[in-house]
Amino acid sequence: MFLNFFFRSYLIYGVIVDICILKRSIVHMDLDSFFVSCERMLDTSLNGKPVIIGGKTERGVVASCSYEARAFGVHSAMPVRKALTLCPDAILIAGQSATYSKYSKMVTDIIAEDVPLYEKSSIDEFYIDLSGMEQFFGSYKLSTELRHRIMRETGLPISFGLSENKTVSKIATGEAKPNNQIKIEHGQEKAFLAPLSIKKIPMVGTKTFQVLSSQGILKIEQLQQFSKDQMIQKFGKMGGVIWTKAQGIDNSPVKQYSTQKSISTERTFEKDTVDMVRINGILTAMAESLAYQLRKKNLLTSCVSIKIRYSDFSTFSQQKTIPYTTNDQGLIGDIKELFYRLYNPRLKIRLIEVRYSHLVSGGYQINLFEDEEQTSQLYEAMDKMREKFGAQAVVRAAGLNATYRGRFSSFSGEGEK
Ligand SMILES: [Mg+2]
Repeated sequence: MFLNFFFRSYLIYGVIVDICILKRSIVHMDLDSFFVSCERMLDTSLNGKPVIIGGKTERGVVASCSYEARAFGVHSAMPVRKALTLCPDAILIAGQSATYSKYSKMVTDIIAEDVPLYEKSSIDEFYIDLSGMEQFFGSYKLSTELRHRIMRETGLPISFGLSENKTVSKIATGEAKPNNQIKIEHGQEKAFLAPLSIKKIPMVGTKTFQVLSSQGILKIEQLQQFSKDQMIQKFGKMGGVIWTKAQGIDNSPVKQYSTQKSISTERTFEKDTVDMVRINGILTAMAESLAYQLRKKNLLTSCVSIKIRYSDFSTFSQQKTIPYTTNDQGLIGDIKELFYRLYNPRLKIRLIEVRYSHLVSGGYQINLFEDEEQTSQLYEAMDKMREKFGAQAVVRAAGLNATYRGRFSSFSGEGEK
């Protein structure tokens, strides 16, 4: 009934070869104004009103806002003070990561139950590969059923875009929102993108937009008319990547979400130790350095674990699920709590490992409201110094008595275990 493949002709060594290509069906799902929707689950009186989630301090920033607030020109990343000038009736709520983490997990569990291959690209966004399902179920029908199940079981509004690839599907979700769905038929990718603003291409940020628009390029169809070489000549390597996306081409695969994806660091002592002052300092330094790695990669963790190896080589580990965070203070507390839960003071320690897992992107949004003004300023200053002088340059006073020489396991190597 459905055709799930098509033929594309290639000229190879002067011979036209028809190659059978499997059509892909990639869904992008995104929860609508996620933080606001979660708050509305807790307090229905917020329904239909302009709501802003953001920092309540002087320099607070909007992390998320309802569509009612957006109608006044409010958008995320805007200073809260400006947002309240634009929309004085808006209800300002300080965010709470624990609630959003809980709902994010509920949605993830439903998706994991219903589909074989999905990627959790942020706290409220998913890519699902339904290729091959087409002939049995129909991927649009499957996506629709999944979307309705999520809404029914969590109460949260969610939108999706379905197409041949990730980029087109993500842009389609943006067009479907709020609370709707769109399917872009195979072969229609370029036509769908043509009338849209170049801003809709995920990698076109403010800077690139300024460069392109200063040359009169505002619509994707204008980009489509250039050749790839012209784009590379004009804008360098990036120009080529933007051109490819503008054509509606994206071969990147959906990467299976794994709670095992992690970053970790370990410390082996030259001499086995029971020096608790030193160990405390090292735990602080390890927790902070990993938190810095998260912030640099715009990632959040929701599970911390610790491993202790004693001088007799016996090894013990323990983990703890936490709300999504990159907050140093919270993470230091969690790591120390785990350590003391596990620690046997009768034995000498040979090695300590700290690991953050269940990683997702989107640290930026959560950080906007998570930190108190003072600590957030402190971390910003510390991160700036690390960028300038290297990751080990800055450790809190407690970490100073430990010469920190932990090794960072690489994100891709260690992470894919
Ligand atoms: Mg969203």
